[in-house]
Amino acid sequence: MAENVLSINNLKTQFSTQDGTVYAVDGLSFDVVAGQIVGLVGESGCGKSTVAMSIMRLLPRQGQIVDGQIRVGGRDLVPLTEPQMQKVRGNDIAMIFQDALTTLNPTMKVGRHLIQPLQIHRKMDERAARAYAIELLDHVGIPDPAARMETYPHELSGGMRQRVMIAMALSCDPKLLIADEPTTALDVTIQRQIMDLILRLRDETGAGIVLITHDVGVVAEVCDRVVVMYAGKEVESGPTEEIFMRPRHPYTIGLLNSSLGLNDDRTQPLQAIPGLPPSLVHLPEGCRFAPRCRHATDQCRQMPPLEMVRADHAAACWHKEEVYAEFTQ
Ligand code: SF4
Repeated sequence: MAENVLSINNLKTQFSTQDGTVYAVDGLSFDVVAGQIVGLVGESGCGKSTVAMSIMRLLPRQGQIVDGQIRVGGRDLVPLTEPQMQKVRGNDIAMIFQDALTTLNPTMKVGRHLIQPLQIHRKMDERAARAYAIELLDHVGIPDPAARMETYPHELSGGMRQRVMIAMALSCDPKLLIADEPTTALDVTIQRQIMDLILRLRDETGAGIVLITHDVGVVAEVCDRVVVMYAGKEVESGPTEEIFMRPRHPYTIGLLNSSLGLNDDRTQPLQAIPGLPPSLVHLPEGCRFAPRCRHATDQCRQMPPLEMVRADHAAACWHKEEVYAEFTQ
């Protein structure tokens, strides 16, 4: 059986603001095994990126993990000091951010972005690090990699910059890769290429991947498992095909109806989910999706528990079987 590279248990991350406490992640649990891609999906503001920043321990000053464990390779990261985390980042976990242009240092050549971490984490000398950096750029499909080492990020296209970030993320052979909206800023053709690259690298390296996205179509095509988040909570999770063929939560169905796959016809209109996600400071009582849910009843004034509906498929909805029955009609 493949080992868990990531195990999150009852994670609670909060932010202190002038308006009150923001309950950004509220009791989330999931695992990622080696070689698996787990999609974390939900609308903007549902807490997905806070999960990524909690794993990386890169929360802003107002943010705090107040409960739970984040185990990477069996070690809980939550109690680690910043110097200890610096060793974990890059060595055990790497992250691909959404916008390469703002993540890469505009004053630093592409080569230096790759050489520095190799010198720090893998103790390579300049010559060996340079040679390996060229190999990495070649590996992620950058043409003429030796010449690209001498360019600045703004001289590359969006797709090429994303490939540079992926090369950086892979440079220290991490066990766990977190990709936060890695294709959002790219056009459709380049999205396809970047997702194909991530899949190929998963197969070659055996790394576990957390893919954070609002795009259910991307999840359907590349993820082994999916965790659907709404207002800081997991509302449904399981194997991707099971979740998409037999969804039990109205929010999952709403996301499915409002998304396109990478190969879908983009001229067809999408169905939006009515309303907006709630404020994470002033959360509704009971089911957080209730104000937007046409299946809501009085029972939904109580928080629905996350329950197994089939082997390995969990959903948090009081009316999951009626919701599923309607979906299959
Ligand atoms: S518990 Fe009620 S309000 Fe919440 S998703 Fe299910 S039916 Fe809708």
